[in-house]
Amino acid sequence: MQMNGADAKITAELTRLGADMVGFGNLSALEPEARRGFPLGISAGVRVPRELVRGITDAPTPEYWDYYHSGQETLDKLADTGAEYVRSLGYNALALTLKNVKFVGALRSELPYKTVATRAGLGWIGKCAMLATERFGTAIWFTAILTDAPLTAAEPVNESKCGACSACADACPAHAISGKLWNPELDRDEFFDAAKCATVARARAKELIGVDYPICGRCIAVCPRTQRYLDAKRQ
Ligand code: SF4
Ligand code: SF4
Repeated sequence: MQMNGADAKITAELTRLGADMVGFGNLSALEPEARRGFPLGISAGVRVPRELVRGITDAPTPEYWDYYHSGQETLDKLADTGAEYVRSLGYNALALTLKNVKFVGALRSELPYKTVATRAGLGWIGKCAMLATERFGTAIWFTAILTDAPLTAAEPVNESKCGACSACADACPAHAISGKLWNPELDRDEFFDAAKCATVARARAKELIGVDYPICGRCIAVCPRTQRYLDAKRQ
């Protein structure tokens, strides 16, 4: 894909700030309210460090729980600083930090980060409802910046690449993953039971690491694409 000046500058800046994946997605097909009137989304992902994912064999670890907080702060900072940079180039930009995310009920946001990431061509939504990528599997967390900058939008990903894999569904202690393949027209509730995941993950985290929060990570760790990332030599 050909990059224009703003594409290259923003990609370089977000990479300098710590992003492992950056992409630009055309959001114009989505409800204007959900995209706050902006036509484009910049998706930026930061991989979960290998040693933390390796630690999750059966259950979450205290280290993974600690990272969960710092990881969210890192993503918010990336989005805030990235949006500031886009504005310094003369465009409007809104960082979709946690405080700027509009929730529709407790377990769903109006514009999920993973929707922006699929629009930006960075991956597909796995059977476990996480954004899945070839390079990092599901061990990568995303944030987003909404903008009117004239960026070159990627070809969106409209198809699951999970195929016949059922590693996450087989490993899920909550039986929250139906095994159905994602496509953009499929509502999350049709292939993933977020309430079951949250209930069982919370109970296990409380029992196993003394944390009253729905944190688990098992589906991330067992994904064959994540395993490939863990085995890869390059950090
Ligand atoms: S986080 Fe845990 S409980 Fe939730 S879907 Fe993944 S494996 Fe299942
Ligand atoms: S474990 Fe398999 S089915 Fe689940 S997200 Fe990864 S590739 Fe897809």
